[in-house]
Amino acid sequence: MSDQPSALATNFADYKPLMDRNAALVEANRCLNCFDAPCIRACPTAIDIPGFIKKIATDNLKGSARKILEANILGASCARVCPTQELCEGACVLHDLHEEPIQIGRLQRYATDRVVLEKKPLFAAAPKNGKRVALVGAGPASLGCAAELAQLGYETVCFEKQAQPGGLNTYGIADYKMDYATALAEIEWVQQMGVEIRCNTEVGKDVSVESLMNDFDAVFLGIGLDGVGPLGIPGEDLDGVRDCLEFIAELKVRPKEEVSLVGKTVVVLGGGNTAIDATTQSARLGAERVYMAYRRDAAAMGAYKHEQELAKKDGAVFVYNAQPVGIEGANGKVTGVKFVKTAVVNGRLEYVDGSEYVLDCDVVLRATGQGKLTGLIAMFDGVETDSKGRVKSAEDGQTTNPKIWTGGDCVSGGKEVVNAVAEGKRAAQSIHAKLGAN
Ligand SMILES: Cc1cc2nc3c(=O)[nH]c(=O)nc-3n(C[C@H](O)[C@H](O)[C@H](O)COP(=O)(O)OP(=O)(O)OC[C@H]3O[C@@H](n4cnc5c(N)ncnc54)[C@H](O)[C@@H]3O)c2cc1C
Ligand code: SF4
Repeated sequence: MSDQPSALATNFADYKPLMDRNAALVEANRCLNCFDAPCIRACPTAIDIPGFIKKIATDNLKGSARKILEANILGASCARVCPTQELCEGACVLHDLHEEPIQIGRLQRYATDRVVLEKKPLFAAAPKNGKRVALVGAGPASLGCAAELAQLGYETVCFEKQAQPGGLNTYGIADYKMDYATALAEIEWVQQMGVEIRCNTEVGKDVSVESLMNDFDAVFLGIGLDGVGPLGIPGEDLDGVRDCLEFIAELKVRPKEEVSLVGKTVVVLGGGNTAIDATTQSARLGAERVYMAYRRDAAAMGAYKHEQELAKKDGAVFVYNAQPVGIEGANGKVTGVKFVKTAVVNGRLEYVDGSEYVLDCDVVLRATGQGKLTGLIAMFDGVETDSKGRVKSAEDGQTTNPKIWTGGDCVSGGKEVVNAVAEGKRAAQSIHAKLGAN
């Protein structure tokens, strides 16, 4: 971990860099072009993976990009951010032959970057059919829905409360996977299809739910999740204790030197994929020590194994069976986190008596799970939620209010970008099936 400002930016260099032509051709020619390819089934957007790879092998990059992007409009993002080990590449038959799987994500990036980042139009909006759809949020779910609807002739307007569109794809993805500028460039390419995005416009505040329901033929809820709520332990108001999503968003939009953690000790609380991203990025911001503290054991940790390995490689220390019970401070600033050790007794997680200890630190990042936007959802009459606060919907994304569809994290409780895009697109097709005939 370097303390040089220039090195900090280098620490966030592309994790899966763009392949050159030679590397892409060699990799494409390794593909076995499987019949009934398992990689397609493992991709939530069902991209014809052998099909797009075959086109790379014949240098038909535009044709390859078309195959990818007609299935997944955010294919350029997904090429960078999909946990491919768990999805397409995890299903590659080469594993059975004890060979490395095809690098599908990197080939996907090779094919799509030139089209998407150079803003070459590939799909056009269909002639208008007179129907209007409002989308709440401009994250991957809404963008997937709006792009599909625009190509079917709908006028689409995304209302986004943030200053920029893209949701967590813009403000949440680890910067070494995809930077802020790339996420925004892709959205500009999507907007060329006639998708309108009104930023700095919060539904329920700057624009009323009633006006959306009156002025549009259908509404899509792609609102994602809330921030990480407080843990309810003493000391959380101390300076230096933060919602890790705020921290991640800040490091995406500001120069790395301004958010440097050089010389600091950071404790990240949580065991999921958001916690692991906060851990790795803290290390890359130059922190002297980074602890990821999780209340259960290593086997129960939800963060992907490959992400855990990356964090360890970056020098992070994992602390298991550690339940935070208080945050300590001096002069209004955090100085440490007090933990009690846990153990599973008769299937239940229990505190171990007399096992309290303190980890000294300067920064605490809460990554213990995002809340739900229950207040916003409740503004939409007839839209029901389940016991966990997730929006209830049918397979096709229609909610319990027949004029409202949904998809993405507000339904799943938090999955991947590729799932949100797939659900947005599926909802668009359902909206078209219901409205298109009228
Ligand atoms: C830290 C972090 C890292 C992640 N890393 C990865 C990764 O590496 N790979 C991956 O595939 N996935 C990753 N994910 C998950 C992925 O980002 C989400 O699954 C995906 O963004 C969900 O898309 P969405 O459209 O449902 O929600 P979001 O991306 O959350 O978008 C919802 C949008 O709705 C807007 N909104 C909410 N309320 C209102 C309102 N009242 N008015 C107007 N707009 C509103 C929000 O501002 C937001 O822009 C990560 C998630 C997190 C938290
Ligand atoms: S979208 Fe993601 S899961 Fe699907 S093929 Fe591309 S990298 Fe794999």
